[in-house]
Amino acid sequence: MNWRQHAACARMDPDLFFPVGSSGPGALQRERAKAVCRTCPVIQECLDWALRAGETSGVWGGTCENERRELARRAERTRRYADR
Ligand code: SF4
Repeated sequence: MNWRQHAACARMDPDLFFPVGSSGPGALQRERAKAVCRTCPVIQECLDWALRAGETSGVWGGTCENERRELARRAERTRRYADR
């Protein structure tokens, strides 16, 4: 978890990364959080951690919950295909 000390969000209000709702102010907040992630030097490490941990809420590694669910689904499909 060393990567966390290099996080662009280290000194920011964590609430920014946990928007409530998927439209209106929640959607705007989610995009603001993602904009911070895009400047983050550890975005990949953060995303990998969130996927491994199964984080089901918030913005991690520049992704929201739905995007991580889709990434996990794709990874599972790829694993199943590779096992054939
Ligand atoms: S990718 Fe986003 S949530 Fe993850 S450490 Fe960086 S700024 Fe924080």
